[in-house]
Amino acid sequence: MIIAENVHKWYGKFHVLQGVSLRVNRKEVVVLMGPSGSGKSTFIRTFNALEEYQQGRIEIDGITISHDLRNIEAIRREVGMVFQQFNLFPHLTVLQNITLAPIWVRRSPKIQAQESAMKLLERVGILEQAHKYPGQLSGGQQQRVAIARALAMQPKIMLFDEPTSALDPEMVREVLDVMRSLARDGMTMVVVTHEVGFAREVADRVILMDSGTLVESATPETFFSNPKEERTRKFLSQIL
Ligand code: ADP
Ligand code: MG
Repeated sequence: MIIAENVHKWYGKFHVLQGVSLRVNRKEVVVLMGPSGSGKSTFIRTFNALEEYQQGRIEIDGITISHDLRNIEAIRREVGMVFQQFNLFPHLTVLQNITLAPIWVRRSPKIQAQESAMKLLERVGILEQAHKYPGQLSGGQQQRVAIARALAMQPKIMLFDEPTSALDPEMVREVLDVMRSLARDGMTMVVVTHEVGFAREVADRVILMDSGTLVESATPETFFSNPKEERTRKFLSQIL
């Protein structure tokens, strides 16, 4: 579903992605960990063309990313993204947040978009919040709206960038539960998170990123219990 080959990116002189390669298979769940500033967000944002890169190649479900606008639209239709800070539209209700893109980008009839949105809200467990505004919801509820909004575009891949980092501890679980069920339903997912329990239970592979490179990629079992690389051991000693 995702092929990234030798991707390089610079911010000015700063070499943020130093030749990163990754393949993600259909239905695979990959967890990306690593110190702050190591390039995790930058890397996964290249998968839906939110970030440009200067060298290398990225292919999403058979489509090679290019600078062509049509191409970028096609990529964004395939790849849903959930951010740390929810990024909901504050002046729209939950239902409007979810139906906006299906109606205006996918050209779905409004009634149909609303019906699908209600099903998604039920799936993420907040059907009763449909007519509220984001500001009236808890962080955990807002993040579940953000997940429903991404799913409304029927993406083939979901990217999560530290989706629980901005949440109070008691709300982390409700969001991870939704992600767990998505994974169980066979969604292809790349998740930046430091939630070790989630990674152990849900990930097919855990990858350590450091200073713009992928340091180690292993099954959760090996990654957490018997990592090969010194840098992985050091990182784990800081988060475990
Ligand atoms: P992570 O998600 O692993 O914390 P990021 O991908 O956000 O790391 O950032 C990697 C590095 O790139 C950091 O050092 C950050 O300061 C830098 N960076 C991120 N965005 C920009 C930008 N728009 N301009 C310049 N430097 C940036
Ligand atoms: Mg980040």
